[in-house]
Amino acid sequence: MTDAERTTILQQRLELVRERVAAACQRAGRRPEEVTVVAVTKTVSSDIARLLPALGVVHLGENRPQELWKKAAAVPGVRWHLIGHLQRNKIERTLPLTHFIHSVDSVRLLEALDAAATQQGRASDVLLEVNTSGEASKQGFAAEDVDRIVTAVQPLQQVRLRGLMTMAALQDPEACRPSFARLRCLRERLAARLGRELDHLSMGMSNDFDIAIEEGATIIRLGTLLFQGLET
Ligand SMILES: *Cc1c(COP(=O)(O)O)cnc(C)c1O
Repeated sequence: MTDAERTTILQQRLELVRERVAAACQRAGRRPEEVTVVAVTKTVSSDIARLLPALGVVHLGENRPQELWKKAAAVPGVRWHLIGHLQRNKIERTLPLTHFIHSVDSVRLLEALDAAATQQGRASDVLLEVNTSGEASKQGFAAEDVDRIVTAVQPLQQVRLRGLMTMAALQDPEACRPSFARLRCLRERLAARLGRELDHLSMGMSNDFDIAIEEGATIIRLGTLLFQGLET
């Protein structure tokens, strides 16, 4: 396949995504500008990721830090989102490359990130990953952790908590709705306790993003829907 052919395929898929985002926003009485699409490039090469900015996609996501480092060097002009687990020994190198870290799954990581960000003199925007499905295999905070989160967030210097992220269980999209609603409620409770707004909810993937938008997603993370058949 040539780059021109790949570009055409991506363009068609993006158009479809934009239509579905607009439709979901309309159903929810929201504006499409409130929803940022992060293209999750974990299954494709840098050569394909490089085609995205020209198509208006400038938010890219990776779930493995090392892969993010590699693609960040190869794909200029985009903002990187880390959406998977960050080991503490990879913080230093990952911080300067990321626009958002979605997957802060422990107080220990939050504290380590703040220490590194302070040392590097750079602010860092993060989301806390919440396990809303109750599956033991999923990482993250639980809905009952509000007190613990508030205590951990208050002393942060350079790390700014911007919101929450979740992965719903893989199932019928409508069955994911309670997970998304739980994340929104938790954000509201946290914001009230912190006395400030938390502006982001990162939720919704290829299978369930329409529902996530109806439930308030501000960031959706799409892999399969965009890149199926283009894997390298
Ligand atoms: C892979 C991945 C996605 C994208 O999932 P698709 O179902 O392929 O759209 C979203 N979020 C996270 C955390 C991922 O690891």
